[in-house]
Amino acid sequence: MENCIFCKIVAGEIPSPRLYEDEYMIVIRDIEPKAKLHYLCLPKTHFALLSEMDAARAEIVKHIFATIPTLEEKLGLQDGYRVIINQGENGGQTVHHLHVHLLGGEKLSDF
Ligand code: AMP
Ligand code: ZN
Repeated sequence: MENCIFCKIVAGEIPSPRLYEDEYMIVIRDIEPKAKLHYLCLPKTHFALLSEMDAARAEIVKHIFATIPTLEEKLGLQDGYRVIINQGENGGQTVHHLHVHLLGGEKLSDF
């Protein structure tokens, strides 16, 4: 997808160290961390919104959620973390390439 910053990161056009990578996803650090540890799980294929879900995309999201718990120790999240998807304008989504936030490394404030 042209002009998508996360597609550019996935393609390696914008350098961002990959803390984890497999066939379907990468994990990077958020450039403006909102917690002591703040990671982003990016699917390698572009889709903008949860509302664009289809069967193939659902498999990728399933894979991401199945993988996150296997990365807890590697990412320093073994004491707990928050998983967030910001969806659309009211959800505060700023990058329209679906991504899952992982926040942790400290006790997070309540909503
Ligand atoms: P959202 O508001 O859910 O769309 O989240 C987008 C996130 O991407 C924000 O937390 C940004 O700080 C983060 N972000 C934007 N550009 C980059 C980048 N080049 N590398 C890492 N994180 C980024
Ligand atoms: Zn994209």
